[in-house]
Amino acid sequence: MDRVWQWVVDGPAVRVGVTTSRRDRTTSTVVLADRRALIVDPAWDPDELAGIAADLARAAVTVAAGFATHAHHDHVLWHQGLGPGPRFASPRVAQICARDRDEIVRRLGPDWPAGLGRVVGRVQPAQDRLCWDGPETRLITHDAHSPGHTAVWLPSPGVLVAGDMLSDIEIPLLEESTVAQYAAGLESLWPYVDRAAVLIPGHGRVAIGGDAARGRWHADRAYLDALLAGRDPDDPRLADPALRSAHADNVARITPGR
Ligand SMILES: [Zn+2]
Repeated sequence: MDRVWQWVVDGPAVRVGVTTSRRDRTTSTVVLADRRALIVDPAWDPDELAGIAADLARAAVTVAAGFATHAHHDHVLWHQGLGPGPRFASPRVAQICARDRDEIVRRLGPDWPAGLGRVVGRVQPAQDRLCWDGPETRLITHDAHSPGHTAVWLPSPGVLVAGDMLSDIEIPLLEESTVAQYAAGLESLWPYVDRAAVLIPGHGRVAIGGDAARGRWHADRAYLDALLAGRDPDDPRLADPALRSAHADNVARITPGR
């Protein structure tokens, strides 16, 4: 079955489409310029990856580049049907993928097809800007959520692909970053969030419009502030039991003496 695509930008020069996985509402983002595409974090299940490749092939689109926002197993996927790349990530993420590739593939579970396992995490380093034959693409790299985590910023049309931050269904997760690193990452994103017309989180719903985008940022910032102050965050995301347990982990992590 054809994938459902949400076209969040539909201009004459650039189109940006998002399709959402059945698993954890993981988003895959395609930036289309003419018949060339940049794909950010294609995901997740094998049939969904094949579906993305088939949709692009049917539209006679060539994948000019791929980008992985961070070195978690659900963000470094690929499919042979998307072509050979090149695929990029921040230097730190490229280093982690090279070092930990076997472990990252293992996290996809024993049923992950071996053929798809072979193309997991095959990224090369890129800094500051992604060079491809499409609209200007800037990379904002920081250490919130995980080392070398990178947001993709398209100044025109004002789209921020945020990776695993700024989500309506996921609170800040501090397994791999300190609160200070997370706060610094949020600070580095603010100038782009403030100008964004569209914000695409790695999991959850796309924020359309400046107010919605800024609202995501303020929600993450308010969560961190409450965590640091030892207050119970007033955060609707914590209605989800899984996130309440993630919140308890965050609290334990920042508790002194632990
Ligand atoms: Zn992640």
